[in-house]
Amino acid sequence: MIKAITGTKDILPNEISDWKHLESIVNTIFTSFNYKEIRTPIFEETSLFARGIGEETDIVGKEMYTFIDRSGTSVTLKPEMTASVVRAFIEHSLGKLQPLNKFFYISPMFRQERPQAGRQRQFHQFGGEALGSTSPLLDAELIIIAYQILISLGLKDLTVKINSLGIPASRENYKKLLRDYLKDKKHKLSEDSRKRYDMNVLRIFDSKVESDQEILKDAPLIIDHIDEESKRDFEIVKEILDKSNIPYEIDPKLVRGLDYYSKTTFEIISGKVGSQSALCGGGRYDLLVEQLGGTATPGVGFAAGIERILLACENEKSLNIPAENIDLYVVKLDENLSSEVFDLGLKFRKENLAVEFDYLNRSVKAQMREANKLKARFVLFVGGDEYKSGKLNLKNMSTGDQQLIQIPDAGIISEIINSHIHSDSKEK
Ligand code: AMP
Repeated sequence: MIKAITGTKDILPNEISDWKHLESIVNTIFTSFNYKEIRTPIFEETSLFARGIGEETDIVGKEMYTFIDRSGTSVTLKPEMTASVVRAFIEHSLGKLQPLNKFFYISPMFRQERPQAGRQRQFHQFGGEALGSTSPLLDAELIIIAYQILISLGLKDLTVKINSLGIPASRENYKKLLRDYLKDKKHKLSEDSRKRYDMNVLRIFDSKVESDQEILKDAPLIIDHIDEESKRDFEIVKEILDKSNIPYEIDPKLVRGLDYYSKTTFEIISGKVGSQSALCGGGRYDLLVEQLGGTATPGVGFAAGIERILLACENEKSLNIPAENIDLYVVKLDENLSSEVFDLGLKFRKENLAVEFDYLNRSVKAQMREANKLKARFVLFVGGDEYKSGKLNLKNMSTGDQQLIQIPDAGIISEIINSHIHSDSKEK
């Protein structure tokens, strides 16, 4: 039997209502902040990610799905979205159309990581990017958006962590300080951290090895060594979060894995998804556009992992999305009426009702069972004496009321059903 590739998952019909619910919240909230959706290709030239994310990162160094296509070009399935959004922004000169561009996206991503609960090789992210302003209002806005989406999904056990990495110049000074601090302890670090010491010393903070964390206990912290401008911006972000009643913690060790961040970084953690607890992460990247060949344009953004968020929702039992009803089930009472039932089904489907009927020559009892299983709002009986006398019997499944409708007047059936759906949704 051929199975789905390790680390990939089918999203089956019984899970789709949760996905759609999440996607509709993402759409609504981003739209209310005037972010516009953007969709970019699944694969890009490998050099985009190598240049954009940084050669020394885990993503570029060991996780990308990269291959040479038949024309000899090295292409990569996108491991994250920011580089692609920035590529599209530059390619289409979007910065010339308006000074500030706010984008959001929902997209699959690909990273060859070791699969475990909450960590896949094809996974999905939604996220937002604001390009064109250094204002910390946007940093705060994106944290608010991410938080509001998670709260709207009913999640409660959330921690927002923020930090500031400063501008590159102050960060370089800090890196020297950190290297100096670690110099005589280097031999005690784990192998991975020793590699990071030379390549990307900040990332040692991400180490999961306890002895590494012990060594880092008294390390100088980046937040104490950032420049004045970054300090001021960080204060503004905190003020806005305070005013917006968003509880947060300052985590001076939150350095994030990617090279392109500067100033604010943030993560939202769930207490309910085990070791892969980060639901969302982001920060400011004022140099990325220029680094990728565009006119210098500041930016800030975040990405959130949909599978992990849905896992947190499941563990907090926060979603209670009822299975979708169908509007009408057409029951065939006489075997020879198949084509009439088919035509009636087609007629109501054209009027945008969700309609089903039997294709398997099942008994009337089995058809009714199916109608109940599908949670049909109405059942239309076609056949018997009523049909011979030119009528159809429409049954409202929630009240049990039945009404006879003359076949030439069948058009009113969709009106009846629609007004029922309308009053149903009003009650909710
Ligand atoms: P990152 O782009 O690494 O900052 O990740 C942002 C978010 O995407 C994380 O907080 C996770 O929720 C999610 N994520 C990252 N990698 C994976 C993965 N391999 N599987 C599932 N979700 C992921």
